[in-house]
Amino acid sequence: MHNSLLGLQLPELALLVEEFGQPAYRARQLFEALYQQRVETPEEISTLPQDFRRSLSEKGISVGLPGIERKFVSRDGTVRYLVGCGDGQSVETVWMPEGDGGEAGDGSEAGNETEMAGRRWERATICVSSQVGCAVDCQFCLTALLGIKRNLTAGEIVGQVCVVLNDQDVSPPLERVNLVFMGMGEPFLNYENFMKAVHLLVDGVGIPESRMTVSTAGIVPHIYDLGAEAVRPKLAISLNASNDALRTSLMPINRKWNLEKLIAAAREFPLRNRERLTFEYVLLDEVNDSAQNARELVELIRGVRAKVNLIALNPGPGIVFRTPVQERVLQFQNILKAAGVPTFVRRPRGRDIYAACGQLKRTVELAPVA
Ligand code: SF4
Repeated sequence: MHNSLLGLQLPELALLVEEFGQPAYRARQLFEALYQQRVETPEEISTLPQDFRRSLSEKGISVGLPGIERKFVSRDGTVRYLVGCGDGQSVETVWMPEGDGGEAGDGSEAGNETEMAGRRWERATICVSSQVGCAVDCQFCLTALLGIKRNLTAGEIVGQVCVVLNDQDVSPPLERVNLVFMGMGEPFLNYENFMKAVHLLVDGVGIPESRMTVSTAGIVPHIYDLGAEAVRPKLAISLNASNDALRTSLMPINRKWNLEKLIAAAREFPLRNRERLTFEYVLLDEVNDSAQNARELVELIRGVRAKVNLIALNPGPGIVFRTPVQERVLQFQNILKAAGVPTFVRRPRGRDIYAACGQLKRTVELAPVA
């Protein structure tokens, strides 16, 4: 028998209610309570009879929501959560509201719950982790310095979204909430749990698949797997280099799946109507951000229905690369745009609290913010 309910799909909940001698329709009630109402304890599930709730508790069955261990609020409204997994491990989950424009926190640990309360936002993005640490070893990434600790379960992936939505007091419908699987870890190295979480987030929590994006460092076989899924997030590929020698030096995973294999998978990825693939490119000063790199990149991705997101490196302790000046970023962008590639410069979010891309987790251990 399972000890925590979060992460269970409807058929698994059906087995559980059967074990408790309950009628089959109770599984749907449990499912809705867990994922739509995002309850924290079985006792809160008012649709269930009292004795069933009591027997769940007596058997030691809990919802299994992860706990918020720490919370940092950035000046730009971004909130970085340190989410505890119950076994002493923790991951980071980031809330990024848009459309308010006002300054929020002071960059320190949140002193009270009301700091974000009452803030207006038009839409928000939650950046979700898929593993504790990461094995991929991208040279510009703080998470990589941790190494891999373990995969997250589907319940822990969904649980991050639930605790953040609860903390931000967001109620359904959730059409203004986007999810990006770009937190700690490589989602495609935890593919089954990641996909199970996607289904629970779509069917249970109520976030449309079209509002989800998964980013991979280039685990090619799973790019093909994702393309074959009936329900799937949009795909982003973390590219970061315009040729193999450069990419291998920045992302050792390129030895296993080089650019030829990666771009072939990108070309074959079955895009839906009006969907574009995203290539992410972290610009490292005088490493991968020259005009020549931009021209190579144009040739590399020619013919792929894609956009490019440029991210000027977010500096951090233990990372040897520098952030390019704005002129170099714009020069790079202009070359791509002139070649007809839709190219955007991503605004860094929560830099003051180390919530930005490639900065997750490590900072808590290396340089406590509060
Ligand atoms: S950038 Fe992503 S894939 Fe690469 S080491 Fe960091 S977390 Fe892992």
